[in-house]
Amino acid sequence: MSTSLAKKASKPKRNAALKKYVYAFGRKTDGDATMRELLGGKGANLAEMASIGLPVPPGFTISTAVCGYYYDNEKKYPAALGKSVGAAIKQVEDQLRKKFGSRSNPLLVSVRSGARDSMPGMMDTILNLGLNDETVEGLSEISANSRFAWDCYRRFIQMYGAVVMGVQARTEEEEDPFHEILDRLKRKLKVKADNELSTLDLQELVDQYKTLIRKRTRQDFPQDVMEQLWGAISAVFGSWKNSRAILYRQEYGIPAEWGTAVNVQAMVFGNSGDDSGTGVAFTRDPANGEKAFYGEYLINAQGEDVVAGVRTPKAISALASEMPKSFRDLEKVRNKLEKHFKDMQDFEFTIEDGRLFILQTRNGKRTGLAAVRIAVEMQKERLMSQETALLKIPAESIDSLLVPVFDPKALKAAPAIGQGLPAGPGAATGRIAFTAATAELETRKGNKVVLCRTETSPDDLKGMLHSQGILTSRGGVSSHAALVARQLGKVCVCGAGDIKINYERRTLTAGKTILQEGDYISIDGSTGIIYKGLIESADSEVKRVLEGGLKPSKSYTYELFQTVMKWADKYRSMKIRTNADTPAMARQAVAFGAEGVGLCRTEHMFFDGDRIDFMRQMILAVDEVQRRSALKKLLPFQKKDFVGLFRAMNGRPVTIRLLDPPLHEFLPHDDVVRRQLAEKLDVPLDFVIDRIKALHEENPMLGCRGCRLGILYPEITEMQTRAIFEAAAQVMKGSKRIKVTPEIMIPLVGYREELADQLRTVHRIAKEVMKKRKIQIKYLVGTMVEVPRAAITADEIAKEADFFSFGTNDLTQTTLGLSRDDMGLFYDEYQRKEIYNKNPFASIDQRGVGKLIELAVERGRSTKPNLKLGICGEHAGDPSSIDFCYRAGLDYVSCSPPRVPVARLAAAQARLRHG
Ligand code: PEP
Ligand code: MG
Repeated sequence: MSTSLAKKASKPKRNAALKKYVYAFGRKTDGDATMRELLGGKGANLAEMASIGLPVPPGFTISTAVCGYYYDNEKKYPAALGKSVGAAIKQVEDQLRKKFGSRSNPLLVSVRSGARDSMPGMMDTILNLGLNDETVEGLSEISANSRFAWDCYRRFIQMYGAVVMGVQARTEEEEDPFHEILDRLKRKLKVKADNELSTLDLQELVDQYKTLIRKRTRQDFPQDVMEQLWGAISAVFGSWKNSRAILYRQEYGIPAEWGTAVNVQAMVFGNSGDDSGTGVAFTRDPANGEKAFYGEYLINAQGEDVVAGVRTPKAISALASEMPKSFRDLEKVRNKLEKHFKDMQDFEFTIEDGRLFILQTRNGKRTGLAAVRIAVEMQKERLMSQETALLKIPAESIDSLLVPVFDPKALKAAPAIGQGLPAGPGAATGRIAFTAATAELETRKGNKVVLCRTETSPDDLKGMLHSQGILTSRGGVSSHAALVARQLGKVCVCGAGDIKINYERRTLTAGKTILQEGDYISIDGSTGIIYKGLIESADSEVKRVLEGGLKPSKSYTYELFQTVMKWADKYRSMKIRTNADTPAMARQAVAFGAEGVGLCRTEHMFFDGDRIDFMRQMILAVDEVQRRSALKKLLPFQKKDFVGLFRAMNGRPVTIRLLDPPLHEFLPHDDVVRRQLAEKLDVPLDFVIDRIKALHEENPMLGCRGCRLGILYPEITEMQTRAIFEAAAQVMKGSKRIKVTPEIMIPLVGYREELADQLRTVHRIAKEVMKKRKIQIKYLVGTMVEVPRAAITADEIAKEADFFSFGTNDLTQTTLGLSRDDMGLFYDEYQRKEIYNKNPFASIDQRGVGKLIELAVERGRSTKPNLKLGICGEHAGDPSSIDFCYRAGLDYVSCSPPRVPVARLAAAQARLRHG
């Protein structure tokens, strides 16, 4: 044990006595691929590769348990660790017949991190460890290449100095001090590339590096190889908590408790001459999934040169002519890796004097398209079953087959000016329009527009319909803009706090960039990134096939899509419905595979054309007579819409929710529109203003909305019920005799009595219409569970209800006491502090809101064992929420039309995961 370790070993807080901390790989291998938790991804796969006979340089893994111990015990190690590491080094020495620290035949090692999930580039790595003033001479003699030996030494000092001894740039402006010395020397010698430096130059560099370290740290560069090793091990464990790693963990939801393992592995040298090299390869193309060998390499170089971009690597195919034997060996490894790991692998290799070594392999990261293609093709190649293939595709990946795409080349060149929440996936480009009216005007002129608003309101719907995409500077992923955009299948970036919209000056400012109305802007709803200028985009092939614009046989992407969807339908048990308010949305959803409408928000039907005026007239009415007269005008519109919806759904179930939002949301806020309204309704302006004032609520989300409206004004419920049954009768009696089973849904119920009140009206009108039309219509009446009281008293409410649909937007809002439109001010901070690890409006807060859902399921079914249960909040399109819904025992999820394919896949995955 080194002296420094002896000092560090201490009385442990955890019982460490009998634990195994060090796992060898090589001739003798202790671990395997299943041991990711303990050995990290890299360590587990190194062990696996060693045991299937792949050429892996020997080494050992210090387990993640040591990382936990290290942080629990003031950065000290278990007492037994020193001995185990010593023994493991000895094993490597014996295998290679080299000796760590020996002048005559020195063993050099690399020390690398390796967490359970790969965190590429986030933690520290040290290469060429074991070199000192003596061993460098030994290496020089054995390799008969002194330039190579001194190059390794200077690289080692540079890495160790920076990572372990902390000799780095001290400010953002300062250059890296090692690079500065290297550049100065190259300038003095008038050479460009590092490999033009001679042995003498490299020796000079080593001296200068050592002086720099002494000056900065008041310590000499360590010559004791064991001290070097422990310094590197501590640095790697220490890097688990560096700011980059913390940020990455937050981004990808990796728990801090996992910790990293440390891998110590014998060095092989890709920089030992011209028949050596190093590279990174993928067994298939990670961008498009094609079964093509993909990657790059550098001759006479070490791993970090490929990543650092100092020299431009060559495409892997070039190796076939440059080093034919190594290329053939590499092809064999490629096949063996895929056959064994049964997934696309991303691996690192080094060729040392013509001999191939594999240094690492892991499941390669890939785009959504590649994920789908690889899974489908690997199933066809019998590398995996349909079940495994389905589980291998992140459900969200399906989206990338459906959304309009930016031309990748154009995207690279486009200047990014800000970022918001990716709320509606896809790519949109167009001229900036700051108002719905401008958006409409411009599109009529044939221009494409992106509607840019601080936030949107129902008044903007028309503008949204006319836009390619919607950008807002305020509001979350279930804000009005996001919700409507997703429903309409529009691209949307919302809550982009770093852009400022000034309606008066008609400018959009992002940092130093100021854009005017009419200027081009582009938004990527999959990443949330906002770009200045125009970027070309196109409809996805799948959409073109579904809409009849492209033959299925002409699109391989469509074939992939269909295959995955067919498999998903085979394995899922939950039904997939859609939230659709118009026949067009319903048709789109059916094309995507929706099996019913789970939510038709009837208020969305009142915004178009004259309807908004009749709606406003109804709201402004001072008594029932006036209200009924306005409702009468609305009835034919509602009926026509329902007819369209029932026809589009062609016999599938349709859930229609009665009016929900606070009424004053429909009223105009701006003076001009108020005046126009007064004129249209032939009432004084003051009357309009006074009524709007009277209807004002401080907290409208918790005010007169939901079933409270129908209870206060039963004539609204009457009109809507009448429209539903009249429409159903018409469609059922029509030439196609389409079956209609309306499911009427009462919103925001918290008391059984509320539901009972509305039921009386619904049943009365239903009976009346059926009698008048001489027809029997089967129908259901249920409620939304969207306030905690409904969940808690679900056993009582179930007595009245045929079904429950969880309105998780409101249920989240009311359970968390958090407005769905006002989280902008604190959301970032909450995320940074890991208070929310996911946006609770995008993914169900399973431990809070989820508990209420489980309670409602249990209590509801205790009253009615066969109570039909679904969800129609935004969460219904989120794969992890869908997984939760499956576990909770729901019968269906209802999401916006573009999310239907994702939901189909996620529902299948949930069943495959949980049985
Ligand atoms: C909900 O609250 O989850 C819901 C679907 O209703 P809305 O979003 O219309 O309030
Ligand atoms: Mg709601």
